[in-house]
Formats: sequence, C-alpha cells, structure tokens
Amino acid sequence: MSPPVTPKIAFGGDYNPEQWPDHVWDQDYRLFDAARFDTVTLGVFDWALIQPALDVYDFTLLDRIVERAAAEGRAICLATGTGAHPAWLARAYPEVTRTDFEGRRHRFGQRHNSCPSSPVFRRLSAELARRMARRYGGHPAVIAWHIGNEYGGACYCELCAAGFRQWLRERYGSLEALNAAWYTTFWAHTFGDWDEIEPPSALTEHWRGPDHTAFQGITLDYRRFMSDAMLANFRDEKAAIRETCPDVPVTTNFMGLYQPIDYHRWAPHLDFASWDNYPPDDTARVRMALAHDLMRGLKDGQPFWVMEQTPSTTASRDVNPLKRPGVMRLWSWQAVAHGADAVLFFQLRASRGACEKYHGAVIGHAGRGDTRVFREVAQLGAEFARLGGTVLGARTPARVALLFDWDSWWAVEMTDGLSRLVRYQQVVQAYYTALWDAGVDVDVVPVTAGLDGYDVVVAPLLHMVKGDLAQRLEEVAARGGSVVTTFLSGRVDEDDNAFLTDVPGPLGPLTGVRVDEWDARGPDFVNPVRLRDTGPDSGSQIEPEIEPEIEVESRLFFEIVIPAGAETVGTYTADFYAGTPAVTRNAFGAGHGWYVAAGLDQRGVSWVVRRVLDHHGIELRYPDVQDLETAVRVTPAGDRILFLLNHRNEAIEVTAERDGVELFTKSRVRAGEPVKIEACGVLLVQEDM
Ligand SMILES: [Zn+2]
Repeated sequence: MSPPVTPKIAFGGDYNPEQWPDHVWDQDYRLFDAARFDTVTLGVFDWALIQPALDVYDFTLLDRIVERAAAEGRAICLATGTGAHPAWLARAYPEVTRTDFEGRRHRFGQRHNSCPSSPVFRRLSAELARRMARRYGGHPAVIAWHIGNEYGGACYCELCAAGFRQWLRERYGSLEALNAAWYTTFWAHTFGDWDEIEPPSALTEHWRGPDHTAFQGITLDYRRFMSDAMLANFRDEKAAIRETCPDVPVTTNFMGLYQPIDYHRWAPHLDFASWDNYPPDDTARVRMALAHDLMRGLKDGQPFWVMEQTPSTTASRDVNPLKRPGVMRLWSWQAVAHGADAVLFFQLRASRGACEKYHGAVIGHAGRGDTRVFREVAQLGAEFARLGGTVLGARTPARVALLFDWDSWWAVEMTDGLSRLVRYQQVVQAYYTALWDAGVDVDVVPVTAGLDGYDVVVAPLLHMVKGDLAQRLEEVAARGGSVVTTFLSGRVDEDDNAFLTDVPGPLGPLTGVRVDEWDARGPDFVNPVRLRDTGPDSGSQIEPEIEPEIEVESRLFFEIVIPAGAETVGTYTADFYAGTPAVTRNAFGAGHGWYVAAGLDQRGVSWVVRRVLDHHGIELRYPDVQDLETAVRVTPAGDRILFLLNHRNEAIEVTAERDGVELFTKSRVRAGEPVKIEACGVLLVQEDM
C-alpha cells in the first residue's frame, strides 16, 4: 500500500484539543488557517478518555474532535491511542505493567508502560484499535492510522520470559541448536529444558548495564525478541484496523537512529515509514540527514513522513537549545530534500501542565499568533502551499548505498575484548559525513537490500556477516563496483560466534587482507596514517581537491593487517607496526574491495571515500563548499529537483551546474552563472530536462 494521498506536502502536527475548552479550539483553528495547517494528528494518548473502564467505551469527545477537524477541512492522522495505558487497567491487571532490567515490577505511571507480552494488553489494545477503525475508518478525513507511539524500551517480566522461550523454540527448533548458537558449554550454561532460560538482565547475565553481558548470543536474541514482541503489538492493532478499514495506510512513529528497535524487522509491516526528528542540538545536520536516509531506506526509497519535530525547543534534555531564526524552516526543507512528503510538529498547542508544558509548540500558553516561532511556521506553510504537489512521491536517484545493520550495532557495542569506545553510530556517521560533504545522494539500506543498482557500497563496522551478504558484496565488486568496509568487520556470524577463519571472515576474498592482530587504545593515543594512492586512478582522473598523499590521524582501534592480494593505500607511521597497511584496496573481478583497518579521522575517511567516488565518476555537488547541503529528488513525472540548503549563518554563492527554474521565485537558473543561497536559506531548482 502507498503512503497517504495528499495534494501537497502534509503540514500540521500533533493536536490535543481534549486538553482544552471549546473557545480554545476556535482560536486554534483560526491560527491553523494562518499557518496553513492541513493535517492534524489526533488521539495519541486518548485511551483513558475513550475507555474509562473495562466495559465502557465513550467516543463522545473524540467524535467532536474528529468532526471539528473534518469540518475545518483538515486531514486526520488518527492514532489508536495505545501509547499509554489507563490507570484502571494497571490496577485491575498488574501484569500489564513492565518489569525493568533490574527486575522491578513497575506500577502505574508514565507512558510506553505496557508489557508487550501481556495477553490483557494485547487483547484490549487490539480491541481499542478495532473500535476506532469501526467508528472512524470510513471517515473521508482520516487519511492515515498512527498505531501506538514511539515503540521502545524493554520488559523482563515472567510473561516476557515465557514469550522469549516460545520465540526461541520457533527460531532454533531444538535445545541442541540453541545450545550450539549460544555457545553454552562456556561457563556451564548448557540448557536441558526450555524453562531454564531466563531473560538476560541485571539479575542474570548482565553486570554493568544492558551492554555488558556474559553471553552476547542470549542478549542479542532477547533484543531481537523484544523488537518482535512490540512489532506483534503493532501487528495486533493493524490487523484489528484492517477488519473494517482495508484502504487507509498505517504507520507508527519511529525515532531514527534508535538502538533498541530493529526498524528493518518492522518495515515490511508498515504501509509507510514515519519518524520523530529531535536532534540534540543545532550541530546535528549530518546526523539528521543520515536518519532521514535511513527512514527512506525502510520502504525501498518510498517517501516517508516526519511525524514530529519541534518548532523551537525540546523538553526532555538537560539543556534544550532553541532553534535559531530560520533553522526550523531549513531543517524542514532538509527532511523534504531527503524524501519526506509530510512535515508535522509536536506540538501544535503547548500543554498547560505535566512534563511537556515547556516543550516547544507552534502556539504557546498565551495563544498568540504574533510570535517569531509562529511567523516562521506560517511562512513555511505558505511555501509548502506554493510548491503544491511538485515533489510528492519523488525518489532519490542514489548510486551509493550505505549498509546499516541493527544486529552489528547491537553486537559490536555489547562485546568484551574489543573497545567500548568504538561506537557504531559514530563510525557510520563518519562515512556518511564524507558522502554528505561530497554532495552525493546516498541510500541507507539494510544488509538484505538488493545491491544491483549501486556503484559503491559502503559498509562501516560490518561486524556481523549474515546469510549470503558476503557473496552479494563480492558480486558488487565483480561487476565493477567498489565495496568499502572497515575495522571490526567480518568478525561474527548471525549467532555472534566468531568465524573460524582469518579475520575478516567471509569478507576475506573480497578485501584481500587478513587481520593478524589488533590493538585498542584510549582516545588520546594517536597513530598517524600516511595515505598515498599510486593505483590506476592516480593522475588525470583525480579531482584536483583530492590530495595524492596526506597524513591523517587514527584513533581507538588499530588492526594489524597482512595483505593477501590487496595493495596498500595507507600505512601506519608509528609503533611496532609502523609501515604496515592501515588502508588497502583489493582488485576483485572488475571492481574493488577496500579495507580501512583503523579508526581514521574525518579527513582520512573523506580521502578514502572521495577516491572511491572519483573512480566511479560519481557527480560531486559543491564538494568544497562547507555547510552547503545538496540533495536531488526525481518526481514520478521525471523532473529532477535539486535542493540547496545553506547551513551557514551567512549567504553562500555558488555557480549553477545546470539550467533550471528556482521554484520559490520562478526565476531562471543558468549553468555557469552564480546562485546565491541566503543564510539558513533553501533553494529548490527544477532542472531542465
Ligand atoms: Zn513483560
């Protein structure tokens, strides 16, 4: 099923009129008109209002809320309301609350508070969704279903333990297979009965928290199980909706680079992807771009929704920096540039009490429409209205894929004996940053994705190599492509057991190296690496900005590599392994397998990535212009839209590379002539065919 059909980029956000008397609704809708909001997300936390007791469902208030929104001409993204359960439910059925990592059974409180394995929760949450769908599923204003809210966390109760055991039976079939996968001969762990298996927690396998486990295999499987258990909750509700509402697309709001839930396991069950974009501060532009691309990659490049973002500040952090003038607009367009077809806020009106009363809102406590934040929101609304449906459904034409894998993320960060300082996201982001700086469109995809369409596949920290992945990466190189992987790759199989071969395991033939040993050091220890390429591409094809030889720093992790066919592109310059390879390139078929054996600094990572891009003649857009982000979307009609986003506080002027029309001003852009992008500015250029 496709994403919701809208006439333009959907604009609006989470709206909670149930917190307010009617005269405030009147004021709100006047302001929504001024901001050109066309979409409201309703009912995200309405369970206790709709079902005040076990046998009582009361839709009176929600009926009025829905009817008012529809009468005002808004499209509705309707939540099932199950992101927080009512107090009476926890009192009547204490097993619906969660048991935490330390083994404490929680009582009623907070939100996202339901045990995913609780039969009572599963039955009543599905029943609520069923009744919502029966009542509102045929309403013409309802264009999308929003199930639950920000699924996450974990539960360690007896019901989850039983669910885990059942999940394990289905996965392994026999205790013999399970014991082999978990390597239980170690530390007398051989299991003789399924009921002996405990969830890995502070009371069992863990000591310093969720990342410190005696048995990685058990902890990995529990994370997979917990992700699947919450997915089952989502699927319960989706199935209940589908009984009477077959045609309205369903989503839930993800959280981007969120570790506990494997969004790739969820993606097939969503009709469209959506996510909540709450960067920690105003330096997060590359991280946001990566997260947008990850979300776009969930549904094979299909456009996604930004379900939530703040117009101004967040509330949950120790420090909640304000978005400076122009930044909310810039970041909204960044989302669209990376594939969003909706830009929605949390929240439209600030709640009066509780922990989010100071969370940024389009309308503050005083109800004014003459604030800076409101004016900027309204300006953005006018721009979306002017753009109309131009970019809807447009795709990103990427020749580069970056592999992202929750299993590798989980495994590499819970493993003893490597380095607790090497963080999966940071390494992935360094490689993504190199691509972002180069102005190259990237698909961030799961390791199971088809790789046929890509010239370059970047696979940082590919710690776990599953299924036929190594073979598919070899095929990329064999047909002339380049694969780039790094230290700590090719170490373990799907069960987190080491390959009984040289490192990097099944990536050995492709990379043409063997890792003999490795060293991990604290953040202050530096081994300089000299990068020098004398290969077939050196010389005329190399862009002048790529220096043929540079010295960079490497930190944290240093693999000592013995070439087994690969040529050396970078060497360590210090310590007992000075002069040995730190970066290699292996000819494989018509292409190459690169191996970066050390934690290179950004300059080093970018140097490697640039050489690879250059080898394939991939167009770099303004690679030397700091703070200028570019992206391209190609519309269903075949129009190419270039986004230019200026993250600097002053104007940037560049030379246009193609003829086209700037879509805000309708002015002509001519190749070779200057184009100016104002501070925090955005240009959309529809390039001539
Ligand atoms: Zn539980």
